[in-house]
Amino acid sequence: MRKILSLVMAITLTVGLAACGEKAVTTAPDGTYQGTGVGKGGEIIVEMEISDNTIKDIQVLKQDESEGLDVALDMLSEEMIATNSIDVDSISGATITSAGFKLAVRDAFKKTGVDKSVLVSKEKPAPEKREAKYNADVIVIGAGGAGLTAAITAAENGKSVIVLEKMPIAGGNTLISGGEYAAPENWVQEEENLEDSNDLFFEDVMKGGDNEGDADLVRVLADKALEGALWLRDDVEMVFEDYMLFFGGHSVMRSLVPKNATGYEMIHKLTLKLEETNSPIHLNTEATELIEDENGKIVGVTAVYNDEIITYTANNGVIIASGGFGYSKEMREKYNPTMNEGYLSTNSVGSTGDGILMAEKVGAKLEDMQYIQAYPTCDTQSGALLYVGDVRLAGRSILVNKEGKRFVEELERRDVISNAVIEQTGGVSYMFWDESAMVDSKVAVKHASEYNGLIARKQLVKADTIEEAAEFFGIDKEELKKTIENYNQYAKDGKDLEFNKRGTLVSFEEGPYYIMVSKPAIHHTMGGIKINTSAQVVNEDGSIIEGLFAAGEVVGDIHGSNRLGSDAITDITVFGRIAGESASK
Ligand code: ADP
Repeated sequence: MRKILSLVMAITLTVGLAACGEKAVTTAPDGTYQGTGVGKGGEIIVEMEISDNTIKDIQVLKQDESEGLDVALDMLSEEMIATNSIDVDSISGATITSAGFKLAVRDAFKKTGVDKSVLVSKEKPAPEKREAKYNADVIVIGAGGAGLTAAITAAENGKSVIVLEKMPIAGGNTLISGGEYAAPENWVQEEENLEDSNDLFFEDVMKGGDNEGDADLVRVLADKALEGALWLRDDVEMVFEDYMLFFGGHSVMRSLVPKNATGYEMIHKLTLKLEETNSPIHLNTEATELIEDENGKIVGVTAVYNDEIITYTANNGVIIASGGFGYSKEMREKYNPTMNEGYLSTNSVGSTGDGILMAEKVGAKLEDMQYIQAYPTCDTQSGALLYVGDVRLAGRSILVNKEGKRFVEELERRDVISNAVIEQTGGVSYMFWDESAMVDSKVAVKHASEYNGLIARKQLVKADTIEEAAEFFGIDKEELKKTIENYNQYAKDGKDLEFNKRGTLVSFEEGPYYIMVSKPAIHHTMGGIKINTSAQVVNEDGSIIEGLFAAGEVVGDIHGSNRLGSDAITDITVFGRIAGESASK
């Protein structure tokens, strides 16, 4: 009996082992497999080639991710092939794109019918080797718009330049912005016979920031705005559209629009221009501390690359162009407790105020740190700035609340609109427009992937009637109809009796109609390092810190309490160039 039992056990064990053994020799059938995921711009479709249990290739068949951030797809696929693994880390700064791509790859692999453990992973290739020390005439911290502009300027003055960028992709907030540039007396204004002047721009910037900005710095911004735009157009070869946008708080339409209305055009062209000067950008390199000599002059900066400390010494100086602190909840709350974690942020994940902290440590004066701006019409889910909402800046939409009523002038300053939205039911606003506004503003074409994503995520509705559109979001439809009738009357009379909306009013005539829900998100930090008109960093006692320059969002005291739309690109260009010049001397 015992013998029979042991025989049965032996057989069971053998069968069991055989089953296990079978599992161990499982292989993925050679072939190509397609998979789908959803990124920022909708569907991402990939095709994966597997042979000998090895990822041979991954092709992206369809994607509509933001230009500039789509390089994340290549980076991920290279790493998956190199490591023979579908589990790789997302690319910092392109999280949604990375997640969509990884989903697509996982979906493709699932079709092999085997577990991913059949892929024997290989070690990740070592990152590019770096020296422990580098020296250049000028070291620039940050490869956003200000940093690249400063670097090109210094390099064109014959200086050797190295740009440090902590993220794997250059561009910062500039890349993900709309890239619009406020310039008085610009070429599109000339075409359209629109009168403008540096003085009027100066006044708008000062007034827009409640006269809190440093008038000397604003004077430079206004007087050099057009020159900066011409430099971008003619030297950097940036392409601009032939129309402008009307950003809140400006007295006239003066904001130039780059190709496709995204900051990609600027970052892409600046990067190409910098390449011409043979100045390197050291990516994944985070500047951590400024180096002072015995006289307090800044002579370099230490940085961390791949867990190693690298010393960068500068013969002429260091330019801080590391952007604002809109992504740092800690800094936001420290300087303005109302801008707490309840707010989402439109910012790049690199905007954590590093340059401000480094400069503060060497005695730099900080100004206006409490002034933090929310952008009024952002994605209620992610906080991303919604470019489809630019129909408002074309003067062709109104903002209503759940009760179907307007509550603010749609072309008011961002802070005024944001504060007004927060007071409304649910802390959101509903942007309403009609088909002719859609056609004229072209926002659905220019920002097609965003538009499709918004529709898919039910953040935007297109409906044949006003009632239907209102019902989609539970807005009071009778009130909304009344609001539109009133607005149409104001358009006929040429005067908005409720909110005195600036610009030319155009009535809403025929459907389809559109309503988009949005809410404010942290967008820009006005405060930062104090500079003089030569972009030299100023000490707490008002003297200059030798060898230290700053430009861009990292600087404070230009936009005062509130930055007007499209003034940031002007600022980073004008002061980026000045910082580059000053550091070349
Ligand atoms: P600006 O508009 O002023 O040019 P951006 O946000 O466009 O500002 O660019 C700032 C850049 O600086 C971003 O690409 C960001 O990742 C980078 N950056 C921020 N902190 C550091 C740091 N400590 N070291 C290197 N780069 C940094």
